[in-house]
Amino acid sequence: MMNRLFLLVTLICVEFTSSAQEYDLEYYLPKNVTYNESIPKPSEVIGFVPGDWHVSHDRLVQYMSVLAAMSDRISLENRGTTYEKRPLILLTITSPEHHKNLESIKSNRAKLVDAEAGNISFDNLPIVLNQGFSVHGNEPSGANSALVFAYYLAAAEGEAIENLLENAVILLDPCFNPDGLQRFAHWTNSNRSLNVNPDPLDREFDETWPGGRTNHYWFDLNRDWLPVQLPESQSRIKTFYEWRPNIVTDHHEMGSNSTFFFQPGIPQRTNPLTPQLNQELTEQIGKFHAAALDSIGSLYYSKESFDDFYYGKGSTFPDVNGSIGILFEQASSRGSAQETDNGILEFKFTIRNQFNTAISTLKAGVALKNDLLKLQDNFYSNTFENARESYYVLGEESNPYLVTELHKVLLQHQIKTYALESHTEIDDIKFQKETSLVVPLKQLQGKLARAMFESRTRFKDSIFYDVSAWDFNHAFGVDFAKTKSVDLGNEIKTPLEFKPNTVSKSNYAYTIRWSDFNAPKVIHKLQKKGLRLKASMKPFNTEDKTFDYGTVLLPVANQTLNSDEIFKLLKKLSEELKVEVTGMQTGLTSGINLGSPNMEALKQPKIALIVGEGIRSYDAGEIWHMFDTRLEIPVTKLDTKAFNPQKLDNYTHLIVPSTSGRFLSENEITELKSWVRKGGTLIGYRYTAKWLDRTDMIELEFKSDTLKPRNIDFQNRYNYYGAKQIGGAIFEAQLDRSHPINFGYDSDKIALFRNTELFVKPNKYSFNNPIQYTENPLLSGFSNEENLKLLKNSVPFQVNRFGQGRVIVFTDNTNFRGFWLGSMKLLINSIYFSDMM
Ligand SMILES: [Zn+2]
Repeated sequence: MMNRLFLLVTLICVEFTSSAQEYDLEYYLPKNVTYNESIPKPSEVIGFVPGDWHVSHDRLVQYMSVLAAMSDRISLENRGTTYEKRPLILLTITSPEHHKNLESIKSNRAKLVDAEAGNISFDNLPIVLNQGFSVHGNEPSGANSALVFAYYLAAAEGEAIENLLENAVILLDPCFNPDGLQRFAHWTNSNRSLNVNPDPLDREFDETWPGGRTNHYWFDLNRDWLPVQLPESQSRIKTFYEWRPNIVTDHHEMGSNSTFFFQPGIPQRTNPLTPQLNQELTEQIGKFHAAALDSIGSLYYSKESFDDFYYGKGSTFPDVNGSIGILFEQASSRGSAQETDNGILEFKFTIRNQFNTAISTLKAGVALKNDLLKLQDNFYSNTFENARESYYVLGEESNPYLVTELHKVLLQHQIKTYALESHTEIDDIKFQKETSLVVPLKQLQGKLARAMFESRTRFKDSIFYDVSAWDFNHAFGVDFAKTKSVDLGNEIKTPLEFKPNTVSKSNYAYTIRWSDFNAPKVIHKLQKKGLRLKASMKPFNTEDKTFDYGTVLLPVANQTLNSDEIFKLLKKLSEELKVEVTGMQTGLTSGINLGSPNMEALKQPKIALIVGEGIRSYDAGEIWHMFDTRLEIPVTKLDTKAFNPQKLDNYTHLIVPSTSGRFLSENEITELKSWVRKGGTLIGYRYTAKWLDRTDMIELEFKSDTLKPRNIDFQNRYNYYGAKQIGGAIFEAQLDRSHPINFGYDSDKIALFRNTELFVKPNKYSFNNPIQYTENPLLSGFSNEENLKLLKNSVPFQVNRFGQGRVIVFTDNTNFRGFWLGSMKLLINSIYFSDMM
């Protein structure tokens, strides 16, 4: 393997031996250092000096593979792939001596976090740094600087570098977001003129939608460190816990007119679970960055922007794990060079700043090694010793899949979980043994568990760089209680396996429980086979079982498959997808009978989703991701640039993520209306509600804040506006369970995530307000008093009959960041049950 790779390396290196550049690698490298000539420079492999063109992910991997093959300081592993099948590589870089002992270094370091291991000597332990780049693919100076950084670490000679490598293990993640980087490199390179043109209006700087910031499904990967729903995050979290690095860096870019930022961020916006010492050490590390940037004449700042509050970011997540996360933000050239307030900003200059701060991080790590190791050691022993005897209990009887999915997150974070020994009732919530989990807070990951589940409604500051709440029990929609004692069963080390009841054969009919998360997946597979289904608008009972609203009925007679085939298919789907299916022996059920007029035919939906310029890509991506990866239900993405409402006749549902609607002409709006009148369902999210109201497709009354600022001076104006925003908080709404939008929910309360200030007055007919915010809706996160007043008793959902069709609006994002599984069913219901609303 090695030999073949070596051969390949040699061949590649021969191809690009000379390339005429106005600058060369020396532009970046520290002076007075000699370099091992057997280590190929980036240009010898990728064909250009870093910074001249943008490196694609393929070439980045190519160069790193070459380095790993040529250098005894570097090993390379492939930890998985992105959605687009790009490798998620990691380079481990340290002295050749340490390379021989990586496993024993790991096990010695494991003692640091083991509260029972007692005091250990730090002297022989190397510091571990996880240095990561370009989680936002269109912030490319990070990933491009990784070429130079890796070359330097492989090739530099002399005492200084040897000392660094003897005292550190560097986990170099050259690109946190391969798919996004590739997308951006393709855009910028294919628009670059041979004679670099810094005019900011050039197409080179104006990426097409959705841009390279996000991953394949348009997710911001720098929000997923805590929810870990995406493959990129899953592999990096695995690396994190394998090594528990002392410093994690996250190299970004910001607006082109800015300079360079390094953490600490705004001090009063630090999460209270983060130890003060973390911020103090971050500041000490900052002095190394300052010295490095001073030496090359680069402007910089810290503490005035960004924060360490939401633990789902790469620079904040480490802070609740005994480590230190550091955010770097470099002004972006966005292409080869761009005119800015600071003169022409060249790509190579941005790379040089990232490279220099990557080195200053390494130097700081080695210089502050004992302090950093001590921080980590104390963090875990304090977490363990100071934790009170207390337990979180999580469960969901009617939708155990949600518990399993949440459990997967907990296990990835190495949070210990236990079975519930017996059925338990806490605070009037019943927890069944089979569908519940217990999380003791007295454990090493206790603080992280608190960070995931603790609600907070009071804050030192009223502005947040990101969301102010993310309670995982609310996001996953599971029952949750905190208790001082519990009947604890065995530890569960693999995701909770819920086994639905075995399906008994029927020649009459089957029911499918709608509350199960995967029920729509089952429905889709059945409808694809041409099977006819109905859904129950009312609950009904047999002697030993209750069937709730929305229960799906499959009559055996007169179907495309015979009774044996149907049984086999249902049994398989029930077992595989963990969905309750029941064989019914009679139609004479109580409540309603199986042949009741309250059993409505379920049509097979054909779903379209508007994407493209003018649509919020995150929201669109979350919807695409949910249907595609979770439910395996096809959605057709219709781009706004070619959107033609006359071609909608093949679709039953059109989902419009947040938009101002400006991509449609008057004529097109008229045609869209006529599609709805003929029976189509239009589902609009967030600001689309305003547009649908304006175009008279639905009548909504919005409440708004009319207060004007008083006693706020000019310098504080942004803080004033910031505090008026609901940046992301969790609110409680009341559900009318008899309305089809709420089918599948077994409680009459739901937690909703909200990051808009859209407040819709309830409809004058109470039955038209099936979801309504409660009197006291704030469950977790920040909202100012004025917004809370507007929000209470307002409605996040409305539906309007429009001809034969429906217009549906959600003011809130039911699919937020792909981990709000608890509210996803609302969108599913608006697809399957729109005709019944
Ligand atoms: Zn960024």
